[in-house]
Formats: sequence, C-alpha cells, structure tokens
Amino acid sequence: MTDASPHIVLFRDDLRLADNPALTHAAHTGAPVLALFLLEPESETRRPPGAAARWWLHGSLVSLRGDLEARGVPLALMRGSAHATLIDLVRRVGACAVSWNRRAGAPSREEDEILASALKDEGVETHHFPANMLFEPEAVRTGSGGAYRVFTPFWRAARQITPDAPLPVPQAIKGWKGAFESERLEDWGLLPTKPDWAGGIAQVWTPGESDARLRLDAFVQRTVADYGERRDFPADAATSLLSPSLRFGEISAREIWHRVRAAIAAGDAPEADAEKFLSEVGWREFCHHLLGGHRDLATRNFNPAFDRFPWARDEKALAAWQKGRTGYPIVDAGMRELWTTGWMHNRVRMIAASFLTKHLLIDWQEGERWFWDTLVDADPANNPAGWQWVTGCGADAAPYFRIFNPVLQGEKFDPEGAYVRHWVPELERLDKRWLHKPWEAPARALSEAGVRLGETYPRPVVDHGSARKRALSAYETMRSDAP
Ligand code: FAD
Repeated sequence: MTDASPHIVLFRDDLRLADNPALTHAAHTGAPVLALFLLEPESETRRPPGAAARWWLHGSLVSLRGDLEARGVPLALMRGSAHATLIDLVRRVGACAVSWNRRAGAPSREEDEILASALKDEGVETHHFPANMLFEPEAVRTGSGGAYRVFTPFWRAARQITPDAPLPVPQAIKGWKGAFESERLEDWGLLPTKPDWAGGIAQVWTPGESDARLRLDAFVQRTVADYGERRDFPADAATSLLSPSLRFGEISAREIWHRVRAAIAAGDAPEADAEKFLSEVGWREFCHHLLGGHRDLATRNFNPAFDRFPWARDEKALAAWQKGRTGYPIVDAGMRELWTTGWMHNRVRMIAASFLTKHLLIDWQEGERWFWDTLVDADPANNPAGWQWVTGCGADAAPYFRIFNPVLQGEKFDPEGAYVRHWVPELERLDKRWLHKPWEAPARALSEAGVRLGETYPRPVVDHGSARKRALSAYETMRSDAP
C-alpha cells in the first residue's frame, strides 16, 4: 500500500460519521480516504427513492459532504451500478481498499458478495461491517434456526443480545488529495423544481447527522417520559421524529439504543416509556427481518390468501384519499400532513391505511406506492410491512375484520381536535362534538363555523356502516373462495 493509494469508503444507507465502522476502519489504516456515494439505478432488489425521499437524500448528502470536507475528506458522487462504477473508480485512482457498511436485507448481501469478489479480482481489499441495524439478520433466529413471523417472540429473543456500542467519529482521518471525477449533486435533480412542492417539508425538517442528533437529544431529554402515554396522540409531538434519519442512516439504531438505555440507567428516563420506545425501534428490526426472507414484500401479500381478495378499482376515491378530501377529518388531516411535511404520525398512518383498504376497498399496494412517493422516511421494509400489517395480510398482522372507525379513532386520539383543526382549517371553528363527524352536525353548528358540506369541506366519500359491511363481505368472499 502506498501513500498515493486511497482507501475508498462507500456510503449508502449510512450517511453519517459517527458509528460508521467502515469509515473508522479506513481512518485507522492510515491510508488517505476518498468517500464515495453512489446513486444506484433501479434493480430487481432496489426501488428508486420516491420524490420526498429524494428531497431528503439531497439534503443529507449536502450535510455529509460538509462534515467530511471539514475533516479534509473529499466526497465523490457517482451514478451507476456499484459493480461497474466502483471498479472504474478503483482503477482510475489506484485504490488499495474499499470499505462499506452492510445494508440490511439478503438481496443487498448477495450483491455485496459479488462486488467483493470482483474487487478481489482487481487486487483490491474489501472490508465490510454491520452498522445499519441493532443486530445482524442472522443473529435473531427461532429455536429451529428459522425466521420469526411474530413480533413478540422476535423481540424477546432480540433483547437477549446487547447491540454493539456505537463508535465515535474517528478523531483523525487522512483525506485523499489526488484527483478524481465527481458528478455535481445539483445535476442529479433530486430536488423538485417545477413546481417546487417541497416548501412545507423544508419548513419542518433539516436532513443530516447533526440535526438527527439534536432530535435524539430533545427526545431523550424531554419527550421520552411521555412516550408510553402520549405516543398515540398526533397533536402531541410525543415521538422521536427519527424515522427519516434512521432510513438514511444519519444516526445509527445502536447509538439510539445505547443512549436510551443510558438514560434509563441514570434515572433520566422512565424505564417503561423508554422500553416502549425501544420496542418500536425493534419493529424496524422486525420489518427488516421480514424483508430479508421476503424480498417482494412491497408487491406480494405475505398471506397468500389475500391474492384472492376482491379489491375495488376506484380512481375517484383513491384521488380523494390522496388529496385528503374523503370527508373523514382524521383521515384528511393525516393525508394533508403527509403531503405538506412528508411525514405522518404513526396512529394516523394506521387510520388512513385502514380507511383505504377497508372503507374504500382499494388494494394496499396503491397506498404503499403513494406513501413511498410522499414520505421522507419511505423505507423498503417498514413501509410495505406497515401496509400489510394494517391490511391484515402481513406477518403478525391485525386481522382484516378489525376495522377502525375513523370517527371513534379521531375522538379517542384527537379529543380536542387540535390535530384536525391544524390540518383541516376549513373545520377549525367547528365544535369538538362534531369535528370528527361534521355530517352529523346540526345546520346551525355548521353555519356558525362557516362550514358548507359539499362546498367548503366534502361530504364523506363512503358511509362508515355500509363500507364496513362491504369490507366484511369482501373478506368472506376471499375466505369462501379458498381452494
Ligand atoms: P417513534 O415512535 O419515535 O419510533 C422510533 C423509530 O422506530 C422510528 O423512527 C422507526 O424507525 C421505528 N418504528 C416506529 N414504529 C414502527 C413501526 N410500526 N414499524 C417499523 N418501524 C417503526 N416507518 C418508516 O420508518 N418508514 C416507512 O415508510 C413507514 N411506513 C409506514 C406505513 C404504514 C401504513 C404504517 C402503519 C407505518 C409505517 N411506518 C413507517 C412506521 C411508523 O409509522 C413510523 O416509523 C413512525 O411514525 C416514525 O415516527 P417517529 O420516528 O417519530 O417514531
């Protein structure tokens, strides 16, 4: 190895400097480091990021580039398959080694093995590390060595293992000073232009490792104590808001885990709340565990009985749902929060997803694709697993016949109506007695609040009672059609 040979660190779903074993390893070798981010094309195993996630990726790369450059490390940006592009770069710069952190999911592992072998043929060392999940996928297995299908035993088994302690940002990294070609981030077109619909997203979010850590600090110091009780109330902002940062690896799950456990040990966080939070991080592990065994999780029912489900095609109803104009205020509030900020509260994700698949009888994959395009945290495992769970066709799913009543859900989880009033301002002045069911409000209450149903705010696209019956009968059809 000569001083002139750089060690390439490949960044993928790990856009951070802390707890980045690949970067730490490269720094410790003493070789000059050239960081590389590859925008890979769509493949059988890789979905192109949706529009909101592309916005996030742009911001996160700007932040990563700034953090690396502050330490003298250049970041090359390239487009193309890892195989061709990386080998080309290795040859051009005469790299001595390539390091990366493993991505979750079996397909990525297989791709990595092929890549490692091609690099070996070039005479280049490769080093890969676990970094993006709490545990390696094969670490949590049933007694017979298989994958879990139910969350509770999965998490019980997982909790027997202590995740590795997170690594600090390497103290000194020698940056590569040689020449290399890089594309311009601006040329990747990750940001929307005509029109620029991301104004609402930019108001709420700052992508990048530093902001992710600020959100973790704020959550551990203030919010976690209310998590158990308040996490289901969308107006309360009682969750960590870490999902887009976990999706892009701006912060590691291991850092979150150790930080929260340390707060419990120091008496700074109530154990029950903090453990509830960690179990949600555990759901992320579980979803990736499922994706590992079911690479077509986004396109195939986990429970094949649902292949016979008589879904309806209703473009008008789908559009009403997407635009937040179903006439059910809690659903509309969620869909508008999603459109404006690129994020939706978990409780409302469940209500909105249930409404699409059960009240409108629209295939969950339509909703999954909409979320994929509009969520800044759109995740290849969590999103399809969440949709399949709500629909009832997923692993460890809520049964299909358990149909959320959007009025009761709204009254229970947004009792004062603060969330609905914020996102559905045309109902702002309606008394809370009617806020979640404006169609039942007396004419006077509506007119005093300035609401004209069918004009200022839509009438319900479906009646809850009949929609429920229709959904149950569709479910029975599926069951009775069983071979
Ligand atoms: P917190 O409550 O603070 O949880 C901490 C972290 O745990 C989250 O950041 C997330 O990484 C993980 N987590 C929490 N709940 C879940 C869950 N149910 N399943 C898997 N991981 C979880 N989450 C995504 O990250 N990306 C998605 O694309 C996504 N799509 C979803 C679609 C549907 C239909 C549903 C019902 C849920 C979906 N979720 C998804 C899960 C969940 O809604 C979000 O992770 C959560 O709302 C993010 O907010 P937070 O970071 O404040 O969560």
